[in-house]
Amino acid sequence: MKNISEDREKSGIFPFNSACDCDKEGIRDGELSKAVFDVVVIGAGIVGSMLLRELSRFECEIAVVEQFPQPGFGVTKSSLSYIHRNHFNPPGTLAAKLCAGARKAFRKLSDELRVDYKETGEFLLALEPSHIPQMMKRKQWGEQNGETGFRIMKGSEVLRREPEVNPAVLSAVYSSGHGMIYPPEWAFALVENACSNGAHAFFGTKVIGIAGNDDGLFTIHTGNGTIRSRFIVNAAGNKAAKIASMTGDDGIELTLSRGTFAIFDKIHSSLVRNILYVGGGDPAVSQVVGPTVSGNLILGLGSFKTPDSTEDTKVTRESLDEIIAMGRDIVPDLPVTDIITFFAGIKSVNNLEEGGDFHIGYSDLSRRVIHLLIGSPGVTASPGIARHVIDLLSDGGLSLVEKKLFDSSREKKEDDWDKGQKWPCGRIVCRCENVTEATIQNAIERGARTIDGVKHLTRAGMGRCQGGFCEGRIIRYLSEALGIEPTEITKKGEGSEQIKGME
Ligand SMILES: Cc1cc2nc3c(=O)[nH]c(=O)nc-3n(C[C@H](O)[C@H](O)[C@H](O)COP(=O)(O)OP(=O)(O)OC[C@H]3O[C@@H](n4cnc5c(N)ncnc54)[C@H](O)[C@@H]3O)c2cc1C
Repeated sequence: MKNISEDREKSGIFPFNSACDCDKEGIRDGELSKAVFDVVVIGAGIVGSMLLRELSRFECEIAVVEQFPQPGFGVTKSSLSYIHRNHFNPPGTLAAKLCAGARKAFRKLSDELRVDYKETGEFLLALEPSHIPQMMKRKQWGEQNGETGFRIMKGSEVLRREPEVNPAVLSAVYSSGHGMIYPPEWAFALVENACSNGAHAFFGTKVIGIAGNDDGLFTIHTGNGTIRSRFIVNAAGNKAAKIASMTGDDGIELTLSRGTFAIFDKIHSSLVRNILYVGGGDPAVSQVVGPTVSGNLILGLGSFKTPDSTEDTKVTRESLDEIIAMGRDIVPDLPVTDIITFFAGIKSVNNLEEGGDFHIGYSDLSRRVIHLLIGSPGVTASPGIARHVIDLLSDGGLSLVEKKLFDSSREKKEDDWDKGQKWPCGRIVCRCENVTEATIQNAIERGARTIDGVKHLTRAGMGRCQGGFCEGRIIRYLSEALGIEPTEITKKGEGSEQIKGME
């Protein structure tokens, strides 16, 4: 029998979880696992990660399978990342139902998992008379969805609170308590906590086929071997239709659209304190300037464009110019020379529901396969989605007995250096974000395997210089810790190697 840890490294299995050794039936002969799981979740975005963590409360064998080397590398990493109050979802929709109570759920999870969650206020602005009906409709939707505390403000009051806003502002609907998170960090924390409660996680592992068997189990074929499971949850985000067709459900189509963001240097963190949306106008356009959880200013999203594919996250000059022009409508003196990075994210709408609502339901062929067709706001809805899917799994025949020893808390591992002084905590590696070698080494010990992986857990490389100073050192730390050449270190998985041409 081969050395299990060698196989784990090769197949990209999450390294921080001892349960991932799969010692009950073993990872043998280079195969991913011969263990039989009760539930396999495909996709470790915020939705799959949240579900895995909720399922880890129960006495069942569960696993997540993810093609990227770490959780949260899909759409989850390229979202605006607000935990919205429930005023963007039309009343009566599944999205509205699943977003209810999101703020409470995220506050609790933030305490348990020790991940950042902050709240701020939001202005839905009317910059011209035509914006007012839509702005009022949002307020009405929020109230019909059970939210309270929306206040109509005159333009003069808006300007008193946010002096940089366009002086032409007529009025606004203000509400407090909008959450902000960094979703890839959350996805990691959720999977980490799930694994410490016995879940299994297989990263760098792409699902390429699914077969039903006579013994009632599904065989999930991956690039690293096969896994068998009684239930499958398809949480593959924009790839959910592809996974559905592997289970024989061919009627699902996802229409994709791409929004663009720009991030400003932290020196402008106090330019605006609240999220500033233009409250009306064309519903296919999103116009927002606001803070991020880590203190940057974010600008987005423009008129959503149709991408060529789920991978087509390019930022065009045209989109950038568009969001800057839209941003200047909101904050005329936007400091565009201090934009430090820009990126794009792709969301999807399914063909099974009207008006962009979520569709979460059983396969046409089996109540042991559940497809999650989630558009926006999937981050906000993720705790509600997890609870809803667990109900569907139970109705589909999964027996759910709560564990006596479920541990909801997660130690924030970067605190280890305070205790043990294992790594140099006085050596700053990322000067823009003040990230020490200790923090980076701990992130690598916990499971970061790529440059983006380190970035998502520590913020190293997210500052003004965008990794110009620290990326070389991070590559060296990764190379030394993983025992591979610097040329093999990637930004976000195979095909994104950063150093070429070294002998
Ligand atoms: C521009 C924009 C702004 C947004 N702003 C907000 C916001 O402010 N608030 C909010 O709540 N929502 C927002 N959203 C929506 C939110 O980002 C998404 O709904 C959410 O991230 C979806 O998460 P997910 O887990 O379903 O998908 P993903 O994060 O894409 O996860 C799916 C995972 O499945 C994996 N996968 C796919 N195929 C396979 C395979 N064959 N084998 C193995 N793994 C596979 C992928 O690699 C991926 O990691 C925004 C979206 C966009 C595009």
